[in-house]
Amino acid sequence: MAGYTPMMEQYLSVKATVKDALLLFRLGDFYEMFFEDAITASRELEITLTGRVAGQEERVPMCGVPHHSAEGYIARLIEKGYKVAVCEQVEDPASAKGVVRREVVRIVTPGTVMDPKMVGDASNNFIVGAAREDGRIGFAACDLTTGELYLTSFGASPEAVNNVLNVYKPAEAVGDEAAMAAIQEALTPSGRSLTTTVRAEAELSKLAAQFPDEPWTAHELVRQKAVARLIAYLEETQKRSLAHLRSVKAYESEAYMSLDAFTRRNLELTETVRDRSRKGSLLALLDRTRTAMGARLLKRWIDQPLLNREEAERRLDAVEALNRDWIKRKELRDELGEVYDLERLAGRIAYGTANGRDLNALKNSLRRIPAVQALCESLEAAPLHALAKGLDACADIADAIEEAISDEPPTTLKDGGLIRSGYDRKLDELREASQNGKQWIAELERKEREATGIKSLKIGFNKVFGYYLEVTRSNLANLPEGRYERKQTLANAERYVTPELKEKEALILEAEDRMFDLEYETFIALRDRIAGQMGRLQRLAENVAALDVLQAFAEASAERRYTRPSWTDGEGYDLTIEDGRHPVVESVNENGVFIANDTSLTSSEGSILLITGPNMAGKSTYMRQVAMICLMAQIGCFVPARRAALPFVDRIFTRIGAADDLVGGQSTFMVEMKDIQVMTEQATARSLIIIDELGRGTSTDEGMAIAQAVIEYVHHHIGCKALVSTHFHELAHLEASLPKLRNGCMAVRESSDGVTFLRKLVSGAADSSYGIYCAQLAGLPETIVSRAYSLLNGETSAPSRPVPLAVKEIAAAVGVVEAQPVLEGRDVVQLSMFPVDTPQQPKPAKPSVNDKVLEKLKKLDVMRMTPLQALEWLNDARNQL
Ligand code: ADP
Repeated sequence: MAGYTPMMEQYLSVKATVKDALLLFRLGDFYEMFFEDAITASRELEITLTGRVAGQEERVPMCGVPHHSAEGYIARLIEKGYKVAVCEQVEDPASAKGVVRREVVRIVTPGTVMDPKMVGDASNNFIVGAAREDGRIGFAACDLTTGELYLTSFGASPEAVNNVLNVYKPAEAVGDEAAMAAIQEALTPSGRSLTTTVRAEAELSKLAAQFPDEPWTAHELVRQKAVARLIAYLEETQKRSLAHLRSVKAYESEAYMSLDAFTRRNLELTETVRDRSRKGSLLALLDRTRTAMGARLLKRWIDQPLLNREEAERRLDAVEALNRDWIKRKELRDELGEVYDLERLAGRIAYGTANGRDLNALKNSLRRIPAVQALCESLEAAPLHALAKGLDACADIADAIEEAISDEPPTTLKDGGLIRSGYDRKLDELREASQNGKQWIAELERKEREATGIKSLKIGFNKVFGYYLEVTRSNLANLPEGRYERKQTLANAERYVTPELKEKEALILEAEDRMFDLEYETFIALRDRIAGQMGRLQRLAENVAALDVLQAFAEASAERRYTRPSWTDGEGYDLTIEDGRHPVVESVNENGVFIANDTSLTSSEGSILLITGPNMAGKSTYMRQVAMICLMAQIGCFVPARRAALPFVDRIFTRIGAADDLVGGQSTFMVEMKDIQVMTEQATARSLIIIDELGRGTSTDEGMAIAQAVIEYVHHHIGCKALVSTHFHELAHLEASLPKLRNGCMAVRESSDGVTFLRKLVSGAADSSYGIYCAQLAGLPETIVSRAYSLLNGETSAPSRPVPLAVKEIAAAVGVVEAQPVLEGRDVVQLSMFPVDTPQQPKPAKPSVNDKVLEKLKKLDVMRMTPLQALEWLNDARNQL
């Protein structure tokens, strides 16, 4: 360090303690960064890189941000995955000898952000502590803003790690090298990453101090290590109380259905595949919660379907009662709507960042609890009564806040206005003194006006000069000589003081100072007292959150006509759904018709359904809807069906063509095979398997061979419920050799105008996949389309195409009505615009109306039309059809 200035030496010694963080070093009104940190920050924040003379020949790279706007910059660095250490001056520069003492006061990291603006209300911000030992991983996930801490352990396979990461989606992880490597490895295929810190050692003895009520010795060692590392890291970075981390929610990973990343994504449980948005997911559909805690818990429930049937029944009982009584449900929703985020309020109280308004928000929320409790008790469901019992309204806390905190406290803590009068005698006295002083000043103003005859004379106050008398320039002549001391000259007025005014000012300011100090102390004492009740508040928050999710299920179920599922365990785990619907597709289909379909996977009628049929016919929607219904039932929600009798499934495997399999650099086929491998290894007779387009991605012969082999394996060895779609209609012959397999297909109606998808599942196999027809719909040139048909028919020149009569006949036989394929409006328009032109259906001699429209369409000069003209044209065309 030789040769650096003392300040820079201090910087370097602080930096040595926080090597992996960007160090924001307070110098006056700025936080400065130096060396590599400065280069990184100037690049990431797009701020100017300068230099500072630091005792050596070369200037040291430097950049800085003003301290009052630092939070925004810190937030941006955190978002980019950096850690930021904030170093403050910890002594008064005026009294410091030599360089002012500085210390790191907090280290902000992606997983420990407390700023409400940075962590959304409806989502958690988890940091994970992990340890690996003897092939097992201990895994602790903590949200510092709410004080939740979940703990589990499992066998160390990338798949298991991936599953648990998908539940918590942590922003950061800390733990031993092996555990961090396992986490990184599990994340690699998804292209995601997170900030990790390796920490191999941590004292287990500290656990008892942090969690006095937890029987630590009963926990697996690898779990203890995971938590110990996490706590050590939190202590090191937060440098303040972790009082709200008191309870551990430990669970066995077998308690919840494990869902692999593909299944989660394919079913679009919490985000859509296309743009990863919440909108369009099951979560968004069911989110009729009224509190932020409820919204977060809903996500957890969806992410972790139950494997405990009694618990699912309890939830369903509660949902049923709430579903039935819509008046009480409405009242409950109104009450819950007034409850603030108790978890985060409690977090801020324990953390020491809650202000007066937070305490009032807590009070107002607590005041709602008795009504919530009464509503729960009045509903007929044992689980709701149990919940009601767990609702401790914490009236003592609400009363204490009510007594102490004024109705409209400021957001600041040190400028008074926090504490009600009448709460503290000393405070009242000081307040009176300051009030009297102010009255005295008002009186003085009146007297001075009288004495001088200057009506506009006034007494004002500012922070620099204190109290003053102000006289406008035009009145100066009326001032008596020598009584006033001039203090400040303005453009058209002069300001003066008098000795007696100064004297009174000192009294008032002193009273105010003491008053503010006392208010602050009183506030902190109250806040600390409430922090001591953290356990009660957290339990209350938990129960309110659960109730909120249950009413959300009831509300969504009532709104969308969902029904309560029943279970079929003990009866061969049969699965029967009458008039099942896909909840999300149905909901975006508001104005149209969603065609409901039955499903029957039973020991008598066959447990495997092999679905063939054209693209766009609704195969994958149908298969997904079965998975969704099973999943919704196991999170305790009603299901979109007229009736559903379901097995309590242990796992849902889905293999549904995903658009971006290539992210991990693997071919679609390889990914499919890997998924199938996992499935063959882990599926049991109680699983549900869904495979869309089995065998695609390789040559036809091979694909078909593999598809058949997989289906046979599922049939002979797994024996679970399965829905399989394939474009190899040749596989339909399997029905003859596999007794538990049935063929099904999506009905389609053909007419001279084209093909209409009826979206109805019928039994039997389709005999054509209409691939070429889809190509035609997509607008491929006619030459290509007819050539493709002729190739398909083994011809070399003359075009002809097969008519899938079987499907047509089946549709007619079962009498399915024609559906409007509404969602994809394209279908309707395009179907009628591109009539199928085949030798079997000779063109009428007279051009039909459709042909005329088509002709006009072909001639349309789209590039020269305004959007309005285009719309008008479309409208006219439609009217002609
Ligand atoms: P496939 O898997 O056979 O190619 P999809 O399941 O993707 O077909 O369905 C194609 C489109 O048809 C979907 O976008 C959906 O909007 C619509 N659809 C599917 N099933 C139904 C249904 N039962 N009722 C109404 N529309 C449906």
